[in-house]
Amino acid sequence: LEKAFSFMIRVRVPGGLCTPKQWLEMDRLANDYANGTLKLTTRQAFQFHGVIKSVLKRTMKEINDSLLDTIAACGDVNRNVMCNPNPYESKHHEVVQDMAQKISDHLTPATRAYHEIWLDGEKVADSEEEVEPIYGKTYLPRKFKIVVAVPPMNDVDIYAHCLGFIAIVEDDKVVGYNVTVGGGMGMTHGKEDTFPRLAEVMGFCTPEQAVDVAEKVVLVQRDYGDRSNRAHARLKYTIDDRGLDWFRGEVEKRLGYSLEEARPFKFTGTGDRYGWCEGSDGNFHYGLYVENGRVKDVPGVRMMTGLRKIAEVHDGDFRLTANQNLVIGSVKPENKEKIEALLEEYGISNDRIRTGLRYNSMACVALPTCGLALAESERYLPELVGNLEQIIEANGLRNEDIKIRMTGCPNGCGRPYLGEIGFVGRGPGVYNIYLGAGFDGARLNKLYRRDVPEANLVKVISPIIEAYAKDREEGEHFGDFTIRNGYVNETTKGSEFHND
Ligand code: SF4
Repeated sequence: LEKAFSFMIRVRVPGGLCTPKQWLEMDRLANDYANGTLKLTTRQAFQFHGVIKSVLKRTMKEINDSLLDTIAACGDVNRNVMCNPNPYESKHHEVVQDMAQKISDHLTPATRAYHEIWLDGEKVADSEEEVEPIYGKTYLPRKFKIVVAVPPMNDVDIYAHCLGFIAIVEDDKVVGYNVTVGGGMGMTHGKEDTFPRLAEVMGFCTPEQAVDVAEKVVLVQRDYGDRSNRAHARLKYTIDDRGLDWFRGEVEKRLGYSLEEARPFKFTGTGDRYGWCEGSDGNFHYGLYVENGRVKDVPGVRMMTGLRKIAEVHDGDFRLTANQNLVIGSVKPENKEKIEALLEEYGISNDRIRTGLRYNSMACVALPTCGLALAESERYLPELVGNLEQIIEANGLRNEDIKIRMTGCPNGCGRPYLGEIGFVGRGPGVYNIYLGAGFDGARLNKLYRRDVPEANLVKVISPIIEAYAKDREEGEHFGDFTIRNGYVNETTKGSEFHND
């Protein structure tokens, strides 16, 4: 008798964009083969949890039939390419989404082994002869993550990723991209030579050059990334060790031309916009809050059923956001009322959310699904936010956007080191608390208290919230306040993350 193995499947969705038909397929697969819920991830992908081994292959095939796939959703290759869901500037969204798709297509492994194993089962190539044009025989030293952002929104957390493209809009047109390199979140508790690091701007490229630039950045990391130590193998360490100028030089050598000077840009925040907004094409978009990305039915909030009913009548698109939320996109004016009625009927409209703190909360999956988790995250953060909301409301901060993030281990899938308040699991019911990240995603936080038991978290955070309510300056964000008032020192670069 074999054990009842169960699996997580991650479905790649470039730019987080899918059709209502694909949504309905994801919903059906979650109910037929997984645990009846869908997880929208911090990297704009779907996850199925609890898929048992006997139906694994069938599930993979049916995902593929829906024209989505799981290729390179894991492994030492380029992962899902993320893109700002930008519902309000529809024409720019089309341009950057198209670019994200092109990069994704170009960097998808060429191997047919995936099809051989999961789809038709036929041996399609002799592995000896199979050529992987970009990854070569040994692939990359570690996973690789790419994002595209459109200022002023940094909702994809561009500085947390290996490679980023910041769209530069001039005269109402995307004229090119500033290129960022060297970001990454993961670290290991107790190993100070591992640290989160923010990406740096390397230069500017035209839209025609972007795919080429992405390829060459990947090639430099392929050739110079540390293959002797997996904890030191991400691009962030290659750049931290050798410097940005060296890295730019290697990229330009392979490009055969120089990148231009970076152009000015400004990010204002990393959160999503909620509720209705009208796009430049006259269609409407609804930013829906999905607590920690978990789509499920609970009494009073029937998110799984409600979104299924919406997908059945919706002829626009769905856009998964990097904050684990969902944009019901491209709703024609004549259909807006119908969607609104369904949001109300199933109890899922944003009216149920009381505070800016909850709107800006984010947790990774952690227990019971993630084998690396040391502590709870997705199942615990909503309760903790509920307790903090009482302090928030008592101090008149209901509408303040305060970014609060939690992960069950230091790997950082929920980007906790960019939370103005960050919690990282140390063990069952015990967390490190970090403070002081930038609201715009351009500054890491810093350790404030180590090994705090769950029961004391509210006690530690409450006085800081009260002081913020009393002493903050006009327009001052919570992270800036904690630095100005000396709760933590500013983190200016990743390698200094562990310094006091
Ligand atoms: Fe990622 Fe760690 Fe959370 Fe697992 S517990 S999802 S590895 S951050």
